[in-house]
Amino acid sequence: MKYDIVIGLEVHLQLNTKTKIFCGCSTTFGNSPNSQTCPVCLGFPGVLPVFNKGVLDLSLRSALALGCTVSKFIKFDRKNYFYPDLPKNFQISQYDLPLAKDGLLEIDVEDGSRKRIRIRRVHMEEDAGKLVHEKEASLVDFNRCGTPLLEIVSEPDINSPEEAYRYLTALKEILRYLEVSDCNMEEGSLRCDANISLKPKGSEELGTKAEVKNVNSFKAVRGALSYEVQRQEELLSNSERVVQETRLWDPDKEVTVSMRSKEEAHDYRYFPEPDLVPFVITDKTIQEVRSALPELPQAKRARFIKEIGLSEYDAGVITSEKEMADYFEGCIKLYDKPKVVANWLMGDFTAALKEKGLESISQCEMDPADFIGMLKMIDDGSISGKMAKSILAEAIQEGKAPKDLVSAKGLTQISDKPQLEDLVGKAMEENGEVVEEYRRGKKGAIAYLVGQVMQKTKGKANPKLVNEILRKKLEG
Ligand SMILES: [Zn+2]
Repeated sequence: MKYDIVIGLEVHLQLNTKTKIFCGCSTTFGNSPNSQTCPVCLGFPGVLPVFNKGVLDLSLRSALALGCTVSKFIKFDRKNYFYPDLPKNFQISQYDLPLAKDGLLEIDVEDGSRKRIRIRRVHMEEDAGKLVHEKEASLVDFNRCGTPLLEIVSEPDINSPEEAYRYLTALKEILRYLEVSDCNMEEGSLRCDANISLKPKGSEELGTKAEVKNVNSFKAVRGALSYEVQRQEELLSNSERVVQETRLWDPDKEVTVSMRSKEEAHDYRYFPEPDLVPFVITDKTIQEVRSALPELPQAKRARFIKEIGLSEYDAGVITSEKEMADYFEGCIKLYDKPKVVANWLMGDFTAALKEKGLESISQCEMDPADFIGMLKMIDDGSISGKMAKSILAEAIQEGKAPKDLVSAKGLTQISDKPQLEDLVGKAMEENGEVVEEYRRGKKGAIAYLVGQVMQKTKGKANPKLVNEILRKKLEG
């Protein structure tokens, strides 16, 4: 391609406070329409907003974890526009003095190297309501009005749809570790708008950009941007003009369509919000928030590789969700074989969670002690690895402890040596011909004898031990 791709992303994140940003209404998702409203979030004349300090705490955590410089002086601004889901005709946001700026997010790129994407700004604002379009009419639900949002704007440092996907994945990972949002795109708690333009390869001057909205998954962001690359390349190759506009992603047809020409900032007539006093954030506050930040995914990954000895791949999978990483750490405190734990967690454990429809390991009732108890039963020979797989699946499905399932089903493997020696002796007596065959050199005959012992014990004999005992008796 003759062009460089230039992408900037704006992420709107719903912060998981219990109440809204400027009133005490609940932010719970999914309740009946307009049940979580009051005069403040409905924008009645004469009401006064009161800033929710919880929003500031979560916003500061996010900004500091992204390496931003936090502004000491905080003020809000009015962004004026009319839309049916915004009854007071303006949104309270932050304009010229955002909460924080100049951050960084590192992503892994396709060639295996790491790339730094700069964060331009992070600011707080309120969300609007939601329109529900029915056949005959459009309805409006104001429950979401006044929900706290954090807007995170990247610099145009992203150079492919795949990099955009990785940026979003890395950002979500960090935000989930910080526990500031559940980042659920389907429930609208994470939304993304993408600005994309093309410019001749190596050129300094940016091309005209289009903004793509209405993308509801990270894969859709990648799809919409790939479509835009194609569309803009075709226009430019035919010496046509790219129009500066907002486009909507149509996930069914997999195309973007023109929605409206893009507004400029001056169209919104921003001015300082007169009903909220500006305030100062002290160094002490910033220091307190910074020192309370949890270990972030990248640091955790590096530690799992260096100190615990996991492979890069395993460390990546285990740390991709904080809950999984916490569970893993809970396990290895009780059990000194991290690689074994990692394999189980990534394989059968994850499969069993999926089977039960659980999204996260934290929703599963089995705690690390129960799980490790099961691994120790494999080690001491009381159950086989194969038994353990089915026990684990059932334990997760039924919400029971593995050791209870083992005893309830009488599944314990027979590893009692005298008992097995007895059984092996019987099997040899009953199958004199097979024993002779073995001794004449047909070593494969041992499998038949093992099978006989397994049959006598209904599959509960420890096959490894049976093999050992048999070999000794046959050779001896
Ligand atoms: Zn309210």
